Amino acid sequence: MDNEKAKQLDRLADQVRNLTASPLYDFRRKNGYSSVFGEGDINARIIFIGEAPGEREAKTGRPFVGASGRFLDELLHSVGIPREKVYITNVVKDRPPENRDPTPQEIQLYSPILMKQIEIIQPKVIATLGRFAMDFILKQFEMPEYGGKISNLHGKLLEAQTQNGKMVVIPLFHPAAAIYNQNLKSTLENDFQILRQFIE
Ligand code: URA
Repeated sequence: MDNEKAKQLDRLADQVRNLTASPLYDFRRKNGYSSVFGEGDINARIIFIGEAPGEREAKTGRPFVGASGRFLDELLHSVGIPREKVYITNVVKDRPPENRDPTPQEIQLYSPILMKQIEIIQPKVIATLGRFAMDFILKQFEMPEYGGKISNLHGKLLEAQTQNGKMVVIPLFHPAAAIYNQNLKSTLENDFQILRQFIE
């Protein structure tokens, strides 16, 4: 079954690599970037979802390996969760130029990929990093909190009804936003504690 999951994910990653319909495809090719599909334990209980790859991620093909990634690693370490035990990905799988926000058209194009990833991995917990991923997930699962502010929803355990049963959604601030903001940093560090209960 693991093998089947791995195969399904490989096929999906191939689709992303060949997503010529994406407005970000030419930018990727021109810069010698890679798409960033996601990585981690395909049987993870927790999936982390960010916004879109930055430059370091596009250069290496791996999510969260730049400055925000280093902070994410610290946060995981602080609650005793090895990075290899979770799955980490983004809503959009290619780097937008100048790290601008992804456009609605780009989000729409990549959204079935993320939804399929979640369906294959079947995590218990979806931890969103930043407002953007939070909005996306709350909307996709038609959750009553959709439209709410991250300043009110961060660190809360929300319940999503999905095709694969109930999942817990935990909105978190984006590590990039928290690096240079001591208040947000402390909040994010506190919010991470809530994840402890979901590790075996
Ligand atoms: N920021 C994100 O949202 N995702 C990454 O992979 C890196 C930085």
